[in-house]
Amino acid sequence: MRIGVLALQGAFREHIMMLEALDVTAVAVRLPEQLGDLNGLIIPGGESTAIGKLMETYEFYEPIKQQHGAGMAVWGTCAGAILVAREVLDAVPGQRSLELMDIVVRRNAFGRQVDSFEADLSLAHLGEDYRGVFIRAPWIESVGDGVEVLGEHEGVAIAARQGQLLATVFHPELTGDPRVHRYFIEHVVSS
Ligand code: GLN
Repeated sequence: MRIGVLALQGAFREHIMMLEALDVTAVAVRLPEQLGDLNGLIIPGGESTAIGKLMETYEFYEPIKQQHGAGMAVWGTCAGAILVAREVLDAVPGQRSLELMDIVVRRNAFGRQVDSFEADLSLAHLGEDYRGVFIRAPWIESVGDGVEVLGEHEGVAIAARQGQLLATVFHPELTGDPRVHRYFIEHVVSS
């Protein structure tokens, strides 16, 4: 199994380390040509406007959509969740997403940098006491019919899955807990 991590900006190194700890071949993806032989792609947290601009520059939009159509699973964390969403509220003018997953997210919904926080989450299929790290996180404002909400924080959806798509608005790569990475590999990629 080969999992790519989009390595344009943000917390990609931490995802690569988590994947390697799970004995998965992890690829730092810097060019669209590298998408060809991947089973899954992680779009990391960071700054969605910066990652989006670099995706535009390196022409990632169409190849990611195409490869997903051909069976490549995609998981977006935080800024990555914004980039996979069908619709982004409070986006900066001209900000573009991949429009892959039938979710509507609101950028910076939990507040500004000073409002970053941690919370114990209960996640469907993953269990209790999952420590979620939220950094200027978006939230998932609404989901389409085919989307399963995997967890909520204070009544708001913070993780969701739709077939071979996964979105988490917190940062599973910043804690030592491999449960979400394992779930992506075993259930989302292999579905
Ligand atoms: N607020 C950031 C954005 O809009 C996301 C923050 C993060 O990925 N930690 O892209």
